[in-house]
Amino acid sequence: MTETIAKKVIYACTKCGEAYVALQSRAFVKQAKSFRCRLCDDVVLRWIGDYDFSDWERALTRQHMNAHT
Ligand SMILES: [Zn+2]
Repeated sequence: MTETIAKKVIYACTKCGEAYVALQSRAFVKQAKSFRCRLCDDVVLRWIGDYDFSDWERALTRQHMNAHT
């Protein structure tokens, strides 16, 4: 039995706090990969092994972007 259903996961950039949604799925080839923040270019996640992460997009939480006027 192989689990092929992708699961949505959220990771936040530890540097600027931007949140990203990615699809987690089983990886069949062990390959070191990483995803960098599109805002500050810091590494949000590095992974290797049983799971792969794809379809990175910004999570729709922009409260912290609101300017305090
Ligand atoms: Zn960032």
